[in-house]
Amino acid sequence: MADVAALTQPIEEATRVRAHVLSALARLKLKRVIDLLNHFPRAYNTRCAIKDLKAGLFASVTGEVTSCSNKATKRRRMKLTEVVIDDGTGAIKAVFFNQPWLEDKFRVGTRVRLSGPVDYAFHSWSMKPTSFDFNPPPQTSGLEAEYPLTEGASNEDIAALVGTLLHHAAAIPDPLPDELAAKLRLMPIAEAYKQAHQPSHPKALDAARLALKYREFFMLQAGLRLRRRSEALDTDLVIRVDDELKQRALKYFPFTLTGAQQRVCAEIVQDLTSPGRMHRLLQGDVGSGKTAVALYAALLMIDNGYQCAIMAPTEVLARQHYANLGHYLGGTKVNVRLLLGGMKKAERDALCEEVASGKVHILIGTHALLEDYVEFKNLGFCVIDEQHKFGVRQRATLRSKGNRPHILAMSATPIPRTLSMTLYGALDVSIIDELPPGRTPVITEWVHRSREGAAMERIRAELKDGGRAYFVYPLVEESDKVEAKSAVEFAETLKNSIFPEFRVGLAHGQMKPEEKDAAVQKFRRGDLDILAATVVVEVGVDVPEANIMVIENAERFGLSQLHQLRGRVGRGRRQSYLFLLGEPRTPEAIDRLNAICRIQDGFKIAEVDLKLRGFGDFAGTRQSGLPKLHIGDFDSDVDALQRTRNDAAVWGERIDADLIRQCLELHFGRKYRLLDV
Ligand code: ADP
Ligand code: MG
Repeated sequence: MADVAALTQPIEEATRVRAHVLSALARLKLKRVIDLLNHFPRAYNTRCAIKDLKAGLFASVTGEVTSCSNKATKRRRMKLTEVVIDDGTGAIKAVFFNQPWLEDKFRVGTRVRLSGPVDYAFHSWSMKPTSFDFNPPPQTSGLEAEYPLTEGASNEDIAALVGTLLHHAAAIPDPLPDELAAKLRLMPIAEAYKQAHQPSHPKALDAARLALKYREFFMLQAGLRLRRRSEALDTDLVIRVDDELKQRALKYFPFTLTGAQQRVCAEIVQDLTSPGRMHRLLQGDVGSGKTAVALYAALLMIDNGYQCAIMAPTEVLARQHYANLGHYLGGTKVNVRLLLGGMKKAERDALCEEVASGKVHILIGTHALLEDYVEFKNLGFCVIDEQHKFGVRQRATLRSKGNRPHILAMSATPIPRTLSMTLYGALDVSIIDELPPGRTPVITEWVHRSREGAAMERIRAELKDGGRAYFVYPLVEESDKVEAKSAVEFAETLKNSIFPEFRVGLAHGQMKPEEKDAAVQKFRRGDLDILAATVVVEVGVDVPEANIMVIENAERFGLSQLHQLRGRVGRGRRQSYLFLLGEPRTPEAIDRLNAICRIQDGFKIAEVDLKLRGFGDFAGTRQSGLPKLHIGDFDSDVDALQRTRNDAAVWGERIDADLIRQCLELHFGRKYRLLDV
């Protein structure tokens, strides 16, 4: 009978493998039997006679070489090797690029198998081979697997090895509950492995790949749910919230909450007053009022005797929160304090003592909050602003400062709805999809170099009329020889040549924090008309009077980043403008600039961003902790992903925790980490 332990044994213990093949496998990180079974073909070639070819097919044909010659293309000086083979039913020409030595190998009369995409033009067949084999087995029909390769192991080596180990697939535990597998009519798991490696028919292959993808996504989604379930019954942090308390909390705000804010507040109250820890991701466009929601939740927790922490990724942002909360809470008994990395030790020690004794109700800070010297008396609620700027471990460290406190993670770089619903599995997501009243859309223009002068004149007129402008420059690494002009030089040019009649200040990441803050403060007070800056102004700077932003070399910014920057203007009553300067050279860069001009909604921006960048990049920058999938694809299999999420939710209680853990460990090893907030 099949044995699970056999799946984790080293490949060379399960069967005989030649040493060079084994080291090639190791390079592909294929060590255990299960790793090899999960090494799925990247393509399938249809073995067929030349007369049965169809254009566009990935085909594998076997025949005799009838001619072979090297040629050079005139224009691009590439070397071509053209090989013609004939299998008795027809002929096909194979074309290789820049491998002139192949001419010696493809001797006329040699029997050879060629695999790759085929094309038909001018009454003849041609192929760009992706692999060839001089000792082909007799030609059969059907599909042939083509594996991701590395030097030292040929496609035949891997196919043969997989063939001898395939019977072990019978031991792979099925993460799906039997009933669900039956209901979905998915191909049984062992059969699916066999068909994925040695397909008997294109239809069987499709069914097999679907069955395997589904199971892969299901185990991830079930894993995410399980992690939540272990915390779900916890009643330690359940607080009491009655109408009187809600009314009292709302009185702190000088405005009425928007409908979206009220809805999210209700969701949070539900979390805080029922068993289980809150683990909520709050997404809302820049300026949508997330901080107000966080403060509301904090007030409820404080009234129930708990302390709160608010962590922000930059000092500017932490100060901003401190100033804002001070504004709401001034003259009340709620004690809000600010902890920064650069504080004098005596001052810091005094503050930490107050935190440890429980006198501080809300502690706002940067990464400094994570230091060992920060201890709380009774931390019940953590707010993590711009959560994607922190790593999994940092978020966990903050959490460890209390007895697994409630968490509200906030992000203004929205993850597309479809993605967050699926990816985050069991994590709760709240969305603020409404801006406070009085915001105006920012007129966004992409300015061609030849029209920069005209744009500057418009800006001059705005500034004369009392407007204020940000000029943003991309960061330049010293080693980077890109032709971006640095912020410093630019500020000089602005001050001396372009806008000599206005007051120009500078803020960039290399400045001391005090200097940088001083510049931002002067701009806020109106002592500066122009603030030249790097992306340090990306988050947290709130100057309602600023109504112009100019982004230099805009093609070098990501779409979400451009949107985030744009959020710095459009905060006051004046009409605001964003001017994008630059010379995009790639189609993607042009797409980005067109998208930012066309779209104002942050969620739509995020969807486009995801499309342009692909999932890997998008999730990678968020330190997602997701494992690398064997067969599923986060980009193209969104439907399957979404269905498994729903199924995992429906089957929630019946999911066998031990089984899912076993499956996750078997397929992804111990090291994978599921997405965490
Ligand atoms: P976010 O953190 O989502 O970027 P903030 O909470 O900082 O947004 O809010 C941005 C600005 O809007 C702040 O100046 C805040 O005082 C104001 N604001 C928030 N909610 C409302 C509301 N419901 N009505 C009016 N102004 C609001
Ligand atoms: Mg904010």
